[in-house]
Amino acid sequence: MGDVVPFRKAPRKKKGSGKTLCKSGFHKWEVDGRKQFDVRQGKLVTIRRCIRCGETKVTLD
Ligand SMILES: [Zn+2]
Repeated sequence: MGDVVPFRKAPRKKKGSGKTLCKSGFHKWEVDGRKQFDVRQGKLVTIRRCIRCGETKVTLD
């Protein structure tokens, strides 16, 4: 008996709080994992992605 619908583990999107911070410039950066070689700078860089809005930035290590 019963139709058990399995719970999906999807990341919840909180309304309001996150994006407001992002708009204010306070992104929640997460390291994207891969390092890339920036040819122009001649250095290894780390790609970071905001887990809330998806924006990316590149930082030098
Ligand atoms: Zn963001």
